[in-house]
Amino acid sequence: MPDNTPFVFMGGTFDPVHNGHLRTALEIQQWLDIPEVCLIPSKMPVHRDEPGCSSEQRLAMVQLAVADEPCLCADAREILSDQPSYSLLTLESLRAELGPRRPLCMVMGMDAYLGLPSWHRWESFLDICHIIVVTRPGYGFPDDSQMRRFSDRHAAPSVETLKQLPAGRVLLHELTPLGISATQIRRLIAQGDSPRYLMPDAVWDYIQTNKLYGF
Ligand code: ATP
Ligand code: MG
Repeated sequence: MPDNTPFVFMGGTFDPVHNGHLRTALEIQQWLDIPEVCLIPSKMPVHRDEPGCSSEQRLAMVQLAVADEPCLCADAREILSDQPSYSLLTLESLRAELGPRRPLCMVMGMDAYLGLPSWHRWESFLDICHIIVVTRPGYGFPDDSQMRRFSDRHAAPSVETLKQLPAGRVLLHELTPLGISATQIRRLIAQGDSPRYLMPDAVWDYIQTNKLYGF
């Protein structure tokens, strides 16, 4: 029997990883009833300013954050790659590993989804994977937007579709709303305030030990 369990991942800068990411990944894992969801930190963000710490440190924090949760994992392929972080390259590398039939799902928050048209060759993504869009406080779905039309055109009728097809569908999923962002956390630390309970203690300990984000 071929393994047709969907491979589900969430990319991001994770600068640093926080409970909004972790809770999202865990809720998706439970909703899809799959063994695990992977977090894939990007190496050189192509769409943003220089991050506040090194790629290796962001990866280390993601690894610490998932260490005690068997349903979450960290994947270092983008950080270890000698190519820039492009989602398309990551999708192609995952597809090559999984083979043509296994469902592949990329999870992204609504903010990231709305910005998708600025990503390199984003219209090819659905040839390789499904996209699961998760709600994020502060980011609505504009009624007549390009991305609304894109998701209507490719909508998965149900979650089962994501398990039956290898790629090609978009599904919106509502989560427990957690209005946490890495931007807010970096700001808190830089101004001398504690970000405790917004992220795992192990990540906060790592930030203090390594004096990241102006701590
Ligand atoms: P920054 O403020 O630096 O942009 P961030 O908190 O948005 O950081 P990212 O690493 O940019 O974190 O996001 C990675 C992915 O996680 C994106 O798809 C983003 O939409 C999603 N995400 C981040 N925080 C949340 C949250 N609180 N709820 C739902 N999705 C989230
Ligand atoms: Mg972001």
